[in-house]
Amino acid sequence: MIRHHFIHLFRVVLLISFLFYGYTEVNGQQIIEGIHYHTGQPVQVKVNNGIIEEITTLDKPVGKNPVYIAPGFFDNQVNGFAGVSFVFGDSDLTPEGIKKATTELWKKGVTTFLPTLTTNSVDVLTKNFEILSAAVHEKQLKGSIPGFHLEGPYINPEDGYRGAHPLAYVKLPDWEEFMKLNAASGNNIIQVTLAPEMKGALDFITKCSRQGIVVALGHHNADTKTVTAAIDRGAKIATHLGNGAANMINRHRNPFWSQLADDRLHISIICDSFHLLPEEIKVFYQVKGVEKTIITSDVTHYAAMEPGEYKTSTGETIELTKDGMLRYPAQNVLYGSASPITKGVGFVMKVTGCTLAEAVQMASTNQAKLFNLNDRGILEPGKRADIVLFTVDNFQVNIQETWVKGERVFKN
Ligand SMILES: [Zn+2]
Repeated sequence: MIRHHFIHLFRVVLLISFLFYGYTEVNGQQIIEGIHYHTGQPVQVKVNNGIIEEITTLDKPVGKNPVYIAPGFFDNQVNGFAGVSFVFGDSDLTPEGIKKATTELWKKGVTTFLPTLTTNSVDVLTKNFEILSAAVHEKQLKGSIPGFHLEGPYINPEDGYRGAHPLAYVKLPDWEEFMKLNAASGNNIIQVTLAPEMKGALDFITKCSRQGIVVALGHHNADTKTVTAAIDRGAKIATHLGNGAANMINRHRNPFWSQLADDRLHISIICDSFHLLPEEIKVFYQVKGVEKTIITSDVTHYAAMEPGEYKTSTGETIELTKDGMLRYPAQNVLYGSASPITKGVGFVMKVTGCTLAEAVQMASTNQAKLFNLNDRGILEPGKRADIVLFTVDNFQVNIQETWVKGERVFKN
């Protein structure tokens, strides 16, 4: 009898500790509980062999500060993280470094990301793609890197539109060269950001689209006719809309209107609170809607580093301010971001009034669809168990646990 009471007490304690979220393992099957980010209902997610097997709604009260359960975040523009740069030529990019960046991103709830290489010499791009392609299939990375994003070198060379990309390496689109770079990447380039007004760019877009490579328009000053032609030929998305443009633009004829006006085009926006004003994010979101808007970070390796001045590989001075702004003072432009996409999930809710479900869709589901990665991006049986548990406190997302392919890789 006493034993029976003891077991009952044990069950009650167990129940209380897993009331709002938690994790148990029964016969090799993992069970994760939390408040479903979309329905707001307490759910139990059963995971088997890295895959979501079943999701059951539970009859439990929702606490005051609920721990949400959602698909892991997907960032399509990551230049580096936590001191590891994917873009520098003189850095010792190593498999260990790639693993470090990946595990640090997991801590922020990012379970899928595209290492993004920016304008540089063909030698540097080739070398870094080779190192990345050798590392991505390592078991330890658990499929978190499904491919790469090449931003540049086929962009507009003008100051402002070029952003912080080094002028010396900006060039016209060159399909043969790109094919060599893609070969160096193990044919893993799945996104290219280019300027459609450059000579040869439209044919380049057609060729990419035929190969299933997502073409993004960015760092450009194309007129409406050219933007429309680029989308006709398969361009899918505008890269970090509102950035990668000159400070002074024509109020009628500028790339923002034409890209906003074409309903076929997705947009990515950097929601780190520095790259765009709240009213810009709100208008972009209202025009494009939740289906066509993607939150991206454009995060650099300066993320998770100390504030101060740093020198880039080409000798430029970069400043990371105390509040997390990353500046390139010589051109008075931003030098990418130091905030992971996680900050954007909270910030987009704050400035647009969108729901958590909509914010997560823009940080995970839309990306998976855009890149045709149908194994992730949503909490659903049959999908990869890439899962985040988090609280939301005053529009700040605080990651509690991260799961990648059914394995807990981070716990707060
Ligand atoms: Zn850019």
